[in-house]
Amino acid sequence: MPSVSSPTSLFSSSPVRIVDVTARDGLQNEKDIVPTDVKLELIHRLVEAGHKDIEVTSLVRPSWIPQLADGEEILRNLPRHDDVRFWALIPNRKGMERALNVGIKHVATFMSASQTHNRKNLNRTQLESLDNIRVVTEMALDEGATVRAYLSTVFGCPYEGDVDIQTTVELTQQLLELGISEISLGDTTGMGNPRLVEQVIQGLKNATVPLEKIALHMHDTQGTGLANVLAGYQMGIRTFDASTAGLGGCPYAPGASGNVATEDVINLFHKMNCDTGVDLAKAAGVGVFLADALQKDLPGRFHKYFLGACATDTDSTHTTA
Ligand code: MG
Repeated sequence: MPSVSSPTSLFSSSPVRIVDVTARDGLQNEKDIVPTDVKLELIHRLVEAGHKDIEVTSLVRPSWIPQLADGEEILRNLPRHDDVRFWALIPNRKGMERALNVGIKHVATFMSASQTHNRKNLNRTQLESLDNIRVVTEMALDEGATVRAYLSTVFGCPYEGDVDIQTTVELTQQLLELGISEISLGDTTGMGNPRLVEQVIQGLKNATVPLEKIALHMHDTQGTGLANVLAGYQMGIRTFDASTAGLGGCPYAPGASGNVATEDVINLFHKMNCDTGVDLAKAAGVGVFLADALQKDLPGRFHKYFLGACATDTDSTHTTA
């Protein structure tokens, strides 16, 4: 066998951070409303697998997303783990008040890189969104909370097509100037490709945006999700959002389905000797649990492989990096 590593390898073995968004991004796109106790069991299992960043719900108006109407109940009943960051997605001042009232310390806000998607998703212009994010970020920082922001449709807009990279760079800079800790660049409808990922990250580098403040939120709608994750890694990104078993999409983006699957991303990185801090077998087990709880086949790959490997008692012991 030839050596798999060489001094000229394109691949380093840097640790990677996974932000699991199943309980919010994944479940908000489900037709049926998942019972609160199932959501809490999901969150418990994610913690048990070793996740340190878990997005657990959103405090949007229940009429907007009835699937997440139990947001405050979820936040009040989270397991107690000082080393786990539980994130809540916050759309506006009212949502931020609700989040801070229940003592949440990690909040995420959002806007789009394309004007049309921003208007359709949020009913605001991008400038109005920035103003709104400024207000809610100040509220959060005053309470000692940490803020991350999603910038959607960075790699393509379902209404506008290509999105200007310079717009992404400028919005990213403006969001960071507000005191936001991390910007998660979203491929909301899975239109991205590795070359475009390289171009966007290069644009950020050229503008001296610190890459440790950038995450990638990739969707596998067209089958390019993991390739895009890998391109981001090769460009220096070390934080990736993912949803267990590939659950989720965006209800306001036609054709959007399937975040990259948490356990698929973990498997990819562990195979490259990049630690994630998450137990792969347990992460796959969460996928099996979720498919069972929702009573349907889910798009992720590794949890199915894992289930088959367990059933046939073959090699299922390579659980960590
Ligand atoms: Mg998503």
